[in-house]
Amino acid sequence: MDYGLEDFVTRKSQNLDLLEYVRCDCPVCHKKNTFSITMTIFGVLYHCFHTNCDTKGIIKGNIKSRGRLIKDTLNKNTIPKIQEVLDMSNFDFNSINTVKSVLIKYNVYFVRDKACIAVDVKENRIVFFTWDRGGGKALSGIGRLLTGFPEYGVPKWKKYYTTEVYPIVFNCKSNYRGNPLYTKTCVITEDVFSALRVAKHHDAAAILGTSMTDFQIEYLHSLGFENIVISLDKDAQTSAIKLSETLSPYFKRVLTLPIDNDIKDMNGNEYSKYITSITKIRRKLHATGNN
Ligand SMILES: [Zn+2]
Repeated sequence: MDYGLEDFVTRKSQNLDLLEYVRCDCPVCHKKNTFSITMTIFGVLYHCFHTNCDTKGIIKGNIKSRGRLIKDTLNKNTIPKIQEVLDMSNFDFNSINTVKSVLIKYNVYFVRDKACIAVDVKENRIVFFTWDRGGGKALSGIGRLLTGFPEYGVPKWKKYYTTEVYPIVFNCKSNYRGNPLYTKTCVITEDVFSALRVAKHHDAAAILGTSMTDFQIEYLHSLGFENIVISLDKDAQTSAIKLSETLSPYFKRVLTLPIDNDIKDMNGNEYSKYITSITKIRRKLHATGNN
């Protein structure tokens, strides 16, 4: 960290309230009005927009919010405590045959961590969970109806908590939910089935849409990811570019990987090409110490 730069950013951000920003000349490349400083719950983010300047970073701590001071908000303790406790007795974690036949429809033939999937026997849904780091408690769950023809008014997807929606993160290395060994790179997909397919080879997170809340970004960050590869469905490429702009100050590298076909619909050939390109990206990042 360049302390001159830190001083500059700290001075400029002094009067900013949460989510306010200022634009000014870049103290590094000295280009006019290319430097942006934003006050966020993560810390003070700064970023130069000039193509030839990669000055960006975050100063944690001393975050001002509505006049009060929040220190080092970016740590695990900022993840809200879950108020609800889900009655797990409704979930069957052993009905792998039911689950298998559903997953195959979405070209998912391999699941490393079966503990992240269950069947809600009462509601007839396949449910995907996000666990806490110890693996003892489900933080959130989202479930899809198993039947093709739902009754009128019954939603296809159901959120199992009323609290913030966590991204559903699948780990590509360990097969026990409580002890995930995340790589430094996470592939972001829209839906759970695409993320699950990717997770055979790479860590993947389903963001359940085409944009992310501050909360979701903070959660991914708390898992230690440094690089993000965005792979939204083909009809969402504008959103993908927007999302990469939102994420780029928070992570070391944010890349978008354009795809011709939704991941869950790719045939074997398309899919292996896609996975190979991510492997190449990770290898390149690894060569620079950032895999
Ligand atoms: Zn600059």
